[in-house]
Amino acid sequence: MKLTDSIQYLKGVGPKSLENYQKLGIFTVQDLLLYFPFRYDDFASRSVFELLDGEKATIIGEVVTPANVQYYGFKRNRLSFKIKQNDAIIAVSFFNQPYLADKVEVGKEIAVYGKWELAKQQLLGTKVVAQADDGFSPVYHVSAGVKQSTLVKLIQAVFDADILKDLSENLPDYLIKKYRLMPRQEAVYAMHFPQDMQAHKQALRRIKFEELFFFQLKLQALKNKEKSGREGISVIIEQKEMDEKIAELSFELTKAQQSALTEILSDMKSPYHMNRLLQGDVGSGKTVVAELAMYAAALANFQSAIMVPTEILARQHFANLKQLFPELNISLLVSGLKVAERREVLESLASGRTHMVVGTHALIQEGVEFYNLGLVITDEQHRFGVNQRKILREKGQNPDVLMMTATPIPRTLAITAFGDMDVSIIDELPKGRQPITTRWVKHQQLPDVLKWIHSELADGAQIYFVSPLIEESEMLDLKNAEELFAELLAEFPKSTVALLHGKMKNTEKDEIMQTFKDGKTDILVSTTVIEVGVDVPNATIMVIMDADRFGLSQLHQLRGRVGRGMKKSYAILVANPKSDSGKKRMQIMTQTQNGFTLAEEDLKMRGSGEIFGVRQSGIPEFAVADIVNDYNILEVARAEAVEIFKTPENYHELIAQVQVGDGFD
Ligand code: ADP
Ligand code: MG
Repeated sequence: MKLTDSIQYLKGVGPKSLENYQKLGIFTVQDLLLYFPFRYDDFASRSVFELLDGEKATIIGEVVTPANVQYYGFKRNRLSFKIKQNDAIIAVSFFNQPYLADKVEVGKEIAVYGKWELAKQQLLGTKVVAQADDGFSPVYHVSAGVKQSTLVKLIQAVFDADILKDLSENLPDYLIKKYRLMPRQEAVYAMHFPQDMQAHKQALRRIKFEELFFFQLKLQALKNKEKSGREGISVIIEQKEMDEKIAELSFELTKAQQSALTEILSDMKSPYHMNRLLQGDVGSGKTVVAELAMYAAALANFQSAIMVPTEILARQHFANLKQLFPELNISLLVSGLKVAERREVLESLASGRTHMVVGTHALIQEGVEFYNLGLVITDEQHRFGVNQRKILREKGQNPDVLMMTATPIPRTLAITAFGDMDVSIIDELPKGRQPITTRWVKHQQLPDVLKWIHSELADGAQIYFVSPLIEESEMLDLKNAEELFAELLAEFPKSTVALLHGKMKNTEKDEIMQTFKDGKTDILVSTTVIEVGVDVPNATIMVIMDADRFGLSQLHQLRGRVGRGMKKSYAILVANPKSDSGKKRMQIMTQTQNGFTLAEEDLKMRGSGEIFGVRQSGIPEFAVADIVNDYNILEVARAEAVEIFKTPENYHELIAQVQVGDGFD
């Protein structure tokens, strides 16, 4: 038998079951060895006194009453008897396994596995444990046609055939020594049939390390390939001019902004092409960092482009850039332009007259050509698909790429999903920001909230109302928003109330936002479309209806729409959550303002796939590792992979184990 042999040659595998095994991803003998259980039943005997209600365990005791089988109805019956463990008398019941009566003999010891029902002092048995079962018994994910017990037997048979010795060690010796990892063969065996808890723990640690290490090695290989394969642009940084411009700003850059800028500029200076993610909490001031990077490009005679998800954001950036760099030629490219205007912008881009351009999706349309695009930035990057970002990038000759995100991606995810990218983090808000007061109220308290809003409106406040989210249906979201809109119109007859929702055309949305921004609307009712980007410093109150329907990160993004001016701001979460996790989320929101903390909490509560904005980010599914709980291993694995790529020529064999195709993105 060889590791690469198909399992069809194994005893007990017929054509039908072969297909079923293949559905589980098991094709070869090696696949079978590496098909690990997801949990174990613990058949080691326990003392009844330490069992929790509902816990599954094995109890060993002396049989003190004869087995009694009661029949009731067709094929239904119950076997019961009592056992004595030390001083405790325990009732044992089995349903529909009358034949087990043969194993029950008064005065003899018996081991029963089952569920402990505390109130009844009864063990609901599922199995009489034989001597051989003592210890851990693996439980595998199986699907239709594959039986748990057959799979166990098959795996056992493969081990019995002494094939394990052919499985080679895939981790380098120095790592095994450094982290005291269990050797691969031993670990693979212990994953299936651990001697005890300790052996299982060590095996699991080793296998997780292996999985995360090779993942990180692959990411580093990709990154390395990017850097060596394609020559990027080397921008000469005019430090003096940069410093002068920074001194002209109406505020001082925070330390975090400064270091992010330094990292970006050093990437731009290097001959490699930059592939960097700039992440920072809402309001942390990412824009100005991006603008300064664009300035550096302009000083070196390169064009730069920034792509944003909405027209109103584009206009906002455009106005900022013009004010900051009056000496430069700045263009705006959005779909709302008149034909002549558009033609002029396109001409200016192609001839090189334009230094910087801000735009929406309009930037990646055909016919948009650049003279020498050296830097490409996407704001709110998760709003764009991988392809859209790629099209923009390809409008230049391998330009430097910077992506910005206001959805704080927890570090855990960032180094996993974006491990092939460099990451700069702005983890500090500008000085003098007033914290946003967040309150959680129940629906029945809404009248009090409305009363308070009346008085705030009288003081000139502007207010956002976000209607509840119903994920399954945009139509229902709209209906909710419309109902809320009607209610608020009735409640505030003297104020201007506007409605914004996702079904509107972009131009219509932008117009409504602009009116709100200009202070001509008092209350803006909206679905979650306002979540992204606009600065309305005068808006100071954010009311989120049925807030428990939103994830933490999303609530945080919504809340970040207020607290942008000098006035005190409030976020009101209206919710009567039914679940514990809903309640917990409301509490966390009132307790922390830190987007990263919230995103980490979100990750813990909902799992990595669920986090808003990172769904399409290409985070792989791991077989045994869990990026949240195994974060420590992940970090170590990453550090080791990085180290290896400092001198890749010394690790040919190791690196050959990870195949790098076209990679991600
Ligand atoms: P975001 O990171 O959410 O995109 P912005 O870049 O829109 O945040 O910045 C939010 C606001 O903070 C803007 O009005 C910006 O001018 C201002 N700002 C940025 N950096 C600073 C700073 N260092 N000190 C004071 N205000 C700043
Ligand atoms: Mg922004």
